Amino acid sequence: MAIKYHSTRNPKLTATASEAILNGIAPDGGLYVPEQIPKLKLTFEALAKMDYAHVAYEVMKLFFTDFTEDELMACIKGAYNPEKFDTEDITTLVQAGDAYFLELFHGRTIAFKDMALSILPYLMTTAAKKCGAKEEIVILTATSGDTGKAALAGFADVPGTSIVVFYPKHGVSRVQEKQMVTQRGKNVNVIGIEGNFDDAQTAVKAMFTDEKLAERMKAKGYRFSSANSINIGRLVPQVAYYVYAYSRLMPKEINFVVPTGNFGNILAAYYAYEMGVPVHKLICASNRNKVLTDFFETGVYDRNREFYLTSSPSMDILISSNLERLIYEISGDKTASFMKDLKEKGRYEISHEMKSKLNIFVGGYAEDEDMEQAIADLYKKEEYIIDTHTAVAAAVYSAYRKETGDETCTVIASTASPYKFTRAVLNSIDPAFDKKDDFELFDELNKLSGVPIPQAIKDIISAPVLHDTVCAKDGLEKEVERIYNL
Ligand SMILES: *Cc1c(COP(=O)(O)O)cnc(C)c1O
Repeated sequence: MAIKYHSTRNPKLTATASEAILNGIAPDGGLYVPEQIPKLKLTFEALAKMDYAHVAYEVMKLFFTDFTEDELMACIKGAYNPEKFDTEDITTLVQAGDAYFLELFHGRTIAFKDMALSILPYLMTTAAKKCGAKEEIVILTATSGDTGKAALAGFADVPGTSIVVFYPKHGVSRVQEKQMVTQRGKNVNVIGIEGNFDDAQTAVKAMFTDEKLAERMKAKGYRFSSANSINIGRLVPQVAYYVYAYSRLMPKEINFVVPTGNFGNILAAYYAYEMGVPVHKLICASNRNKVLTDFFETGVYDRNREFYLTSSPSMDILISSNLERLIYEISGDKTASFMKDLKEKGRYEISHEMKSKLNIFVGGYAEDEDMEQAIADLYKKEEYIIDTHTAVAAAVYSAYRKETGDETCTVIASTASPYKFTRAVLNSIDPAFDKKDDFELFDELNKLSGVPIPQAIKDIISAPVLHDTVCAKDGLEKEVERIYNL
């Protein structure tokens, strides 16, 4: 059955899967949603016998119905192969403490963003062919740290595309920044902004929906698309690993705990649930920027609050874009007016009836101290070392488990390698590490964890800085004009 997509803000703005992937965002600023979330066709017993690529195919073919089997398989084979991941099984489940950790960071840039951004360039170039698009695709990306590098690695030197990444100059880890500013490729641009992720994402979304800008781009032979999780081509590949994880364990029911920022990863878990994975609870873990915890508790989404820089920078976000897709699931045609309130007043409140449809979600947050404790505890008990984002999820999960006594089989999404946040991770285990320099710390982490230093880290140690542009938070469009000679 063919699945159509439409804007969360207007059901009449429809698109095929290819068009939705190519456009990135709907023309009215809404996000593309499938008209219905498809159900899995195969049993979990059948999926359990398949490798990651084939499970991914079984999930994605149900969403991307206008791709032929050959087209989709070619995308999957290009993305999920042993050259791009350092483990045969693409993602690994590790049991430690009271939960399983689903290690999603075995791709080239050692964060879970690789799971979707290694396939997005294939999906995008296939979609462009199918739609007969002639223009060069310009990927505009706002990043809180990890999307940027994963998108750069995915799109570098891909014919017919170029990419501009905006990152918060003072809001990412040293490793994250170094990974981005050393990116090679003729078609890549990396720009720091004097602002935070929300500033970057808001400016980028405004450019996507600026018709005059689109016309000027078109006149020069360009069109915009998005590599952020607002693109359905990023969200759907993420659904696959929740189905995969369930099929490896097959308990009666399962909880997923997801360290959350832009609400993309946990929304993918929700789609997996809608497809038929027997989920008991989806636990949405935030850091001190706990706008989502408050939302699930009170039904009020309010971004009018102080913004904090934490040790889990990829979750330092107050406007979680993908929540719009969940709001659409529970409110339908009211989505546009909620988003208008969010834009104009910075807040909206859902009804009791809508809130009652969110019972599968549990919100929780952890301060940096709780996060550090979670790293130290797990290391002491299990000699297993997790990154700061995953540790936010681990801290939220232990509090949840203590409070509720819920012993349902639980999988924590492990979203980055600890090497990406080496200093914060090692300081959590012993503050004495802080005296050492970055390079020594990589060796220390290697000694403590027994995990080899990933290629992604070796690559940046000696790589020259190739990008040093910084712009004001209202200067993003000017940078785009400069790069593309508008
Ligand atoms: C992006 C990111 C997150 C947040 O994921 P969302 O899909 O934005 O909610 C969490 N942890 C890490 C390491 C990330 O890179």
